[in-house]
Amino acid sequence: MQLHLYDTWQRALRPFEPLRAEGVGLYCCGPTVYDYAHIGNLRTYLFEDTLRRVLQFNGHTVRHVVNITDVGHLVSDADEGEDKMEKGSQRAGGESAWALAERFTEAFRQDMQALNMLPPTLWCRATEHIPEQIDFIRILEDKGYTYRTDDGIYFDTARQDDYGYLARLKREGLQAGIRVELGQKRQPTDFALWKFSPRDSQRQMEWDSPWGRGFPGWHIECSAMSAKYLSPWFDIHCGGEDHVAVHHSNEIAQSQACHGTRAANFWLHGAFLQLDEAKMSKSSGDFLRLQTLLDRGYDPLAYRYLSLTAHYRKQLNFSWDSLEGAQQALNRLRSTYAGWPEGGKLLPAFVEAFTAEINQDLNLPRALALVWGLLKQSDSDADKKATLRHCDQVLGLALDRWQPVEQAIPAEILALAEARQAARQARDWTRADALRDELGALGYVLEDGVDGVSVRPAR
Ligand code: AMP
Ligand code: ZN
Repeated sequence: MQLHLYDTWQRALRPFEPLRAEGVGLYCCGPTVYDYAHIGNLRTYLFEDTLRRVLQFNGHTVRHVVNITDVGHLVSDADEGEDKMEKGSQRAGGESAWALAERFTEAFRQDMQALNMLPPTLWCRATEHIPEQIDFIRILEDKGYTYRTDDGIYFDTARQDDYGYLARLKREGLQAGIRVELGQKRQPTDFALWKFSPRDSQRQMEWDSPWGRGFPGWHIECSAMSAKYLSPWFDIHCGGEDHVAVHHSNEIAQSQACHGTRAANFWLHGAFLQLDEAKMSKSSGDFLRLQTLLDRGYDPLAYRYLSLTAHYRKQLNFSWDSLEGAQQALNRLRSTYAGWPEGGKLLPAFVEAFTAEINQDLNLPRALALVWGLLKQSDSDADKKATLRHCDQVLGLALDRWQPVEQAIPAEILALAEARQAARQARDWTRADALRDELGALGYVLEDGVDGVSVRPAR
């Protein structure tokens, strides 16, 4: 069955065909490295990693480009407020914006590795592509798409009749409902291409340009780097759903003005992870990182498993109970898999059914349900193992890497686990949670099994 993907541009499922024989070009907007990634950000990267794996499963070679936003992303997406990097540097007690970028880029790479995401074919940093961004802005200027204000060079969105088509923005509505201070911007949707350094203070990150000393706006980096590494017309561009209305609409405006293309043939967007009904955001300062989950004794791949249980275009509400459920399901899958003998062959009917689900716009929840069905099938265990190994190329649960550990549990740990069980039976959830946290801090997790709750070392 042919791969179909939901394209936000057309608001439709479309059959996917690569533009070029040599492989699929995939550009994913990467992290702004002024802080750790939160598990919401990581949900988006997991969706993109799954997309890449599905493309590869279908036999495509993928050139996967991820950028690092290390300059220019302002506190508000509408070009107002401070640069997140410079602000983060002040918050970090004077650690330079450059050192901060380095530290959080490395932390992001480690999160990706822990979640068994495939490393991108190419990473690119905004600060290492300043000349490319200046060249891009020059072309926009030559074609008459820019104007100058006191604080920078702006893109004039009134020059494009279909500006904002990706988000189905209605220009009249925008004009009527102006709430933001326009300043010297001509339209609320106009955005900065180049911002001037303030006259009264020195920025840590700034460069000379034909328009004066300053730094690039946030959107231009992705247009300049995707064009450089994947050409001005490539296969797939991804990001989280918040990028539709501003960042990706502006990337498309720039590409249309410069190259006459909408940059990518397919635009895919992942829905947000919610936390207690509220959108998780990095700038609120209160967020869950992958490390927070590990500190509670969970395996990073339990979070990956959890992300597979919701379709990427549906919002997912994070709760500790759902993570607990994912950890237990993963444990069962791993131990069953590890107990099966080697030497089997693929079950073609199963692989076909699995492929049909993942090719239907990455329906991983259904594919996962099929996997649980496989466990109950009457085929030989060796054949089931070979089949599940094959499918794990898409699931990314690293089933082959897991080793069962037989280890005696200390009496003190068993006593804590029993006390927690008693607290649960007494419906004393506060105490039960506190005991679970205490076990987590000691490196143990609880697991529901056929013979009741058991405790085991966290991995
Ligand atoms: P940022 O580091 O803020 O530039 O965001 C990195 C990626 O995470 C972008 O693709 C965002 O769209 C995405 N993102 C931000 N918040 C969330 C969330 N709560 N759930 C899922 N994705 C998110
Ligand atoms: Zn981007």
